[in-house]
Amino acid sequence: MNKGKKLYEGKAKILYEGPEKGTAIQHFKDDATAFNNLKKSTVEGKGVLNNRISEHILNNINQIGIKTHLIKRLNMREQLVRLVEILPVEFIVRNIATGSLTKKLGIADGTVLSKPLIEYSYKNDDLGDPLVAKEHIIEFNWATATELDLIKKHCLRINDFMQGMFRGVGIKLVDFKLEFGRANIDGKKEIILADEISPDTCRLWDVVSEKKLDKDRFRKDLGNIIQAYQEVARRLGIIHEETNITSVKFGKPKAVNIKKK
Ligand code: UDP
Repeated sequence: MNKGKKLYEGKAKILYEGPEKGTAIQHFKDDATAFNNLKKSTVEGKGVLNNRISEHILNNINQIGIKTHLIKRLNMREQLVRLVEILPVEFIVRNIATGSLTKKLGIADGTVLSKPLIEYSYKNDDLGDPLVAKEHIIEFNWATATELDLIKKHCLRINDFMQGMFRGVGIKLVDFKLEFGRANIDGKKEIILADEISPDTCRLWDVVSEKKLDKDRFRKDLGNIIQAYQEVARRLGIIHEETNITSVKFGKPKAVNIKKK
């Protein structure tokens, strides 16, 4: 599939114009960054794994009735997606306290939260993606109150679903980040899930050993990053036991129709 012009290049992905109006091609890079770009590296095979893992999770989310931007995976590194007007807000869902929550508020790392906690941060690298309140989002027109209510419901539903999915393969879903956008569907603006869900955007701990199977291996220099991402893909049944992601070529995915719900 021919890519159009580059629309946007982020830290881990590039977005190109898609073959039809309203579509885009999302390309997964091997670049890894942390601490607002202060730490940078290349992790060979990461993009291929995140492409597959994110495809798997977004397809499942679509099946539970939440629309996503994913149309289909195209190849090892690319997905055909709906072009959305992304909201400038990151939606963080937490089940266990760790990362910035423990640093900012002094909560003990590993504290199990009594119910999922949703946080909002304003997507702005220059400001370091600051935590904001719902009132900021509405005041500055980043999203409407109605959109926020719907997104909150989606976040909780996605969290329930993903917690179950990961728990079934011996993984605790500690926290994750979601992004939503407005898409034009049948002439109507709708809020849909966008971006990616992968070990880059989630914290995933082995249920028994609490071993980190996510980007914290990069953030904290724990090593074996790609092995951890492969482990997640294997447990989810996306790749097979013997697969080594850096040497394998995936076959073409089956074409699927855009699901209209
Ligand atoms: N996260 C993300 N992108 C960001 C910030 C956070 O994907 O720009 C994810 C992160 O991987 C973790 C969750 O959101 O799963 C919560 O991250 P946290 O706020 O603890 O930030 P961090 O400690 O990574 O700075």
